[in-house]
Amino acid sequence: MRIFDPHIHMTSRTTDDYARMAAAGVRAVVEPAFWLGQPRTGPGSFTDYFDSLIGWEPYRAAQFGIVHHATIALNPKEANDPRCRPVLDLLPRYLDKDRVVAVGEIGYDSMTPEEDDAFERQLALAVEHDLPALVHTPHRDKAGGTRRTLEVVAASGIAPDRVAVDHLNEVTVEMVRESGCWAGFSIYPETKMSPPRMVEILRRYGLDRMLVNSAADWGVSDPLLTLETGRAMLAAGFTEDDVDRVLWRNPVEFYGQSGRLDLTGAAASGETFEGSSIKRGGS
Ligand SMILES: [Zn+2]
Repeated sequence: MRIFDPHIHMTSRTTDDYARMAAAGVRAVVEPAFWLGQPRTGPGSFTDYFDSLIGWEPYRAAQFGIVHHATIALNPKEANDPRCRPVLDLLPRYLDKDRVVAVGEIGYDSMTPEEDDAFERQLALAVEHDLPALVHTPHRDKAGGTRRTLEVVAASGIAPDRVAVDHLNEVTVEMVRESGCWAGFSIYPETKMSPPRMVEILRRYGLDRMLVNSAADWGVSDPLLTLETGRAMLAAGFTEDDVDRVLWRNPVEFYGQSGRLDLTGAAASGETFEGSSIKRGGS
């Protein structure tokens, strides 16, 4: 099984995770820019982070035969902090970089006027830079937040098939399917979406414009839940080709719209990586 995780926060994972992912068949990842837990106090810590997403992290991934791309944005949560908003003016220089395949994660956290403004401005940047957009949906009031998200996307003028609306569940999938946007699902060990629930959604709504990710970050999460979902699909009677479509060809198609997806360097299946050449930092 070859796997492309279209939404995973490798910044928060160790080399052990990279090794396990490589052994499980993960050959490509996209890491969206997001909130880092500790609130940032100014644009400089964003640009250092963005530089790491297009420099250090791809290098780290390459040690394990995993191709790494990023999406860049001011995340919804920090869009509310006046100290962070100047980042919006710095985004264009990152949106021109080769390894950046979408604007994201954008969207809503608490649905404030500040979030409205940042969301609209960043959708406009996606159109201007001819990039797809990766949209986060809020964890509170998921249905209301997703509905409003789709209205803002529709009003922005971006083509719906260039937008992935992520972190969906049984309540929000239908409205996103109807909108023509891609539907993204984050599979978690305890909350939100599980592999068996994901399989039911695929059975009901089909495989077209469906993205499955592990979203793994510092919370309780597991970077191998993409593999578990593939196994659950096979156990439920889906074919190997169906699994390949959802876990590989769909993310290639979505991010391929950027014109920048370069999968040379992805390990051939069966190829293993025994060790990392990354040196230990510090003293
Ligand atoms: Zn995320």
